[in-house]
Amino acid sequence: TDIQELLLSRIRDVADYPEPGVMFKDITPLLADPAAFTALTDELAGIAQRTGATKVVGLEARGFILGAPVAVRAGVGFVPVRKAGKLPGATLRQAYDLEYGSAEIEVHAEDLTGGDRVLVVDDVLATGGTAEASLELIRRSGAEVAGVAVLMELAFLDGRTRLARALAGAPLEAL
Ligand code: IMP
Repeated sequence: TDIQELLLSRIRDVADYPEPGVMFKDITPLLADPAAFTALTDELAGIAQRTGATKVVGLEARGFILGAPVAVRAGVGFVPVRKAGKLPGATLRQAYDLEYGSAEIEVHAEDLTGGDRVLVVDDVLATGGTAEASLELIRRSGAEVAGVAVLMELAFLDGRTRLARALAGAPLEAL
């Protein structure tokens, strides 16, 4: 579509970043272009509305940049999922495996409740490890998963398969 063409034209491929052999997808040109950033926000907010989301979860850090305006546009709350150790209140914490080693993410326990339907927003789905851990946090909070919405899915890494179990039938939408 025209919107996909616009979004794609504002994503920069950076070779060998952050390490040799990796082609990094840089969204900063898109953020700097108001037409593209607005179009992206509207598309993601449409997904939030169609999936009946009551909260948008943004994954640190680019998921904050995308998720916050989506929540405002959709008329729902925004909840940050952060790397462990950054949130001051009582949290739920989830560990997940990285290529080398592991990482932990957290959410404020009181921000997600049993009545919530939660849409997870991020820029890039790669291996799916981060999104999978966020879905586990949502499940443990007692909230329902409305879905996962990302700008880009790196399909060759097959994060979609890794997420299937945790999605439990909820949609994964990649623009
Ligand atoms: P995953 O856990 O392997 O799916 O990695 C996803 C996380 O890493 C997301 O929070 C992304 O923001 C980040 N990420 C992975 N690859 C890229 C990339 O090429 N560009 C921007 N972010 C990336």
